[in-house]
Amino acid sequence: MHNKTIKELADGLRSSEFSSVELTQYFLTRIQQHQHLNAYITVTEDLALQAAQVADERIASGNATLLTGIPIAQKDIFCTLGVKTSCGSKMLDNFIAPYNATVVEKLNHAGAVMLGKLNMDEFAMGSSNENSYYGVAKNPWNTTAVPGGSSGGSAVAVAAGLAVCATGTDTGGSIRQPAAFCGITGLKPTYGRVSRYGMIAYASSLDQGGPMTRSAEDAAIMLQAMAGFDEKDSTSVDHPVPDYSQGLNSSLVGLKIGLPTEFFGEGLSRNIATALDIAIKEYQCLGAEIINISMPTLTLAIPTYYVIASAECSSNLSRFDGVRFGYRCENPVDLADLYTRSRGEGFGREVKRRILMGTYALSAGYYDAYYLKAQKIRRLISDDFKNALSQVDVIMSPVTPTNAFGLGEKTADPVQMYLEDLYTIAINLAGLPAISIPAGLSADGEGSTPMPVGLQIIGNYFAEAKLLNIAHCYQQVTDWHRHMPNGFE
Ligand code: GLN
Repeated sequence: MHNKTIKELADGLRSSEFSSVELTQYFLTRIQQHQHLNAYITVTEDLALQAAQVADERIASGNATLLTGIPIAQKDIFCTLGVKTSCGSKMLDNFIAPYNATVVEKLNHAGAVMLGKLNMDEFAMGSSNENSYYGVAKNPWNTTAVPGGSSGGSAVAVAAGLAVCATGTDTGGSIRQPAAFCGITGLKPTYGRVSRYGMIAYASSLDQGGPMTRSAEDAAIMLQAMAGFDEKDSTSVDHPVPDYSQGLNSSLVGLKIGLPTEFFGEGLSRNIATALDIAIKEYQCLGAEIINISMPTLTLAIPTYYVIASAECSSNLSRFDGVRFGYRCENPVDLADLYTRSRGEGFGREVKRRILMGTYALSAGYYDAYYLKAQKIRRLISDDFKNALSQVDVIMSPVTPTNAFGLGEKTADPVQMYLEDLYTIAINLAGLPAISIPAGLSADGEGSTPMPVGLQIIGNYFAEAKLLNIAHCYQQVTDWHRHMPNGFE
């Protein structure tokens, strides 16, 4: 049952092949059995079984949605009423959210059953899940490799069959990169498509929640429930939500796919390039036309992002002061001591590094040289995408430069870790939607474990339906999305 999609399980629930309580119990047992993967920070067993019972009644009464009774899990960045919401940090280890994030509220409303809260890099800062206060989540394809980050727990849970699907958030690649490393489908929607209310802020102008699933078809179902205008989020966009499942099978004949030379050059490992070559040929067989394009500003994305994201995080994380939320140091002697020790003891190294970088970039003497400059480059990057997307329908690229790397391999060198987001970060700076889909398995060398490869498809603003259609058509003629890691089939 753990390798089935939302669609398949929804059919089973409707035909009474199994109940949601049985399904939920099955997943709870699997989570227990695979605890060593460290995918979950909190398992909400009792709440899940209660929700499953309610879902069974709803299905029997005939007013269920496709998600009713389906066991899902939430990245621990989304506030969940009455349930610990840690954001992967010691700072919030004792934080019980007093309300639900809009995304949580919407998925609950659809009848999805929450199994628990998933592991992640502290405050979503990271590319390997190694910055989590709760320890790294393990990649089920090879437990000595990282699962990617920051939504590492989400990717592991879906890949190993410890949830049918999961939520993730993506500030610079955190849905797409772990999806690629773990062989699942991950969609980062257009900025403003999914409400950020109750999603703990890292870099507000970049953060966006989205679905992490087994297939594009499932991503369409999940996004349907998550998307939409929310008056509680001032950056949420009031744009109609289409039926994401309706056009999944539309023909790709005549589709213009742009391949930016900057994304297929230096830095991309040979085996990933080879796998993507085959995937792109598959699209040609489906009738698409390939057009080589150039996007010269892409190479500026990483430095630009690390100025802007750090600046925004230094401001967002100032709310954690030992007074209002979370961790408070023992026996503070005065207010300054309370602030400095609570923050010093509550935050991890990477979070502190970002706060320092951001505070520096925003300080009076350096604002123009760093922050303002970065904002200007951000505009150039957006213009570059606008220009490219006026020539082609979508852009395809790698998601990651290499296969999932080894645990501990990049922790000593933050810049190496930042370079992991080479192909994902520019999309957040432009606010565009992009999806990562499994497009092959590749081994680094003879004798090494074959690992999943991701293909990224980038579209214009609010073109999620088109991305899902393009991803779904590929999944109809290939079965990479059906592969499960050894021992988890
Ligand atoms: N790896 C990037 C960072 O550490 C992106 C993280 C994310 O998308 N949340 O900032």
